[in-house]
Amino acid sequence: MKFLEFLDKVSELVFPSDFKCLSCEKDIQKGEAFCTRCKQELPYNSGNVCEVCGINIPSAGRCVRCNGKKVYEMARAPFLYDGAIKKIIHNFKYNNAKYLFKPMAKYMADCYNKFNMQADVIVPIPLFKKRLKERGYNQAFKLGEEIGKVLNLPIINGLERIKDTPTQTALDFKDRKNNVKGAFKALDKTFKGKNVLLIDDVYTSGATLKEACKVLKSSGANKIYVLTLAHTMLENKKDSKSFK
Ligand SMILES: [Zn+2]
Ligand SMILES: [Zn+2]
Repeated sequence: MKFLEFLDKVSELVFPSDFKCLSCEKDIQKGEAFCTRCKQELPYNSGNVCEVCGINIPSAGRCVRCNGKKVYEMARAPFLYDGAIKKIIHNFKYNNAKYLFKPMAKYMADCYNKFNMQADVIVPIPLFKKRLKERGYNQAFKLGEEIGKVLNLPIINGLERIKDTPTQTALDFKDRKNNVKGAFKALDKTFKGKNVLLIDDVYTSGATLKEACKVLKSSGANKIYVLTLAHTMLENKKDSKSFK
């Protein structure tokens, strides 16, 4: 046996190849979430971002939407809502792909550390009861739970969704804000006086997250940090419906 073949055999023992890339399903090494190629092509939100909401912008500073008073300290997301990440979010929302939560939460926890967020407790954006029943789980809670394990933070159901808000995608910015008004109420208030890490899968208009922040604040939360897996892009292509 040639030395390189021998190394391959050893590596097969150490890193069994029954692990699949989360994007293209090619075999990968244990401990990895993506193959080398997909990892390079992930839509990282690594350029300039708005210092408040975390949307990608051409140069440092604030985006046009964030000129007023801040409702949260900062919102950040490790990825743009595009390509493989869009597909992944769709799969953990609608295709019961629970194995995606742990590796994706790892990216979110890294993002938390990168921006030096300082939270005491994690609160996920809740689903309306009927939707929770349909899906069987809340994707924001699942992500929050895994992030909590990495960062050693407790997770609580600090909010309850008391209004079944119709899907936001068809509404414009102002309508989205009205749509989520009164959507939440505080449930487990042990976040009182504490810094909250508010979790959701995607930051879109921010209307839902901001409404949740208002309820948390009025129930005594101290600082609020918002962490999502992805943030919609500044130049959102209208025709990007297909999952590449
Ligand atoms: Zn791949
Ligand atoms: Zn902004």
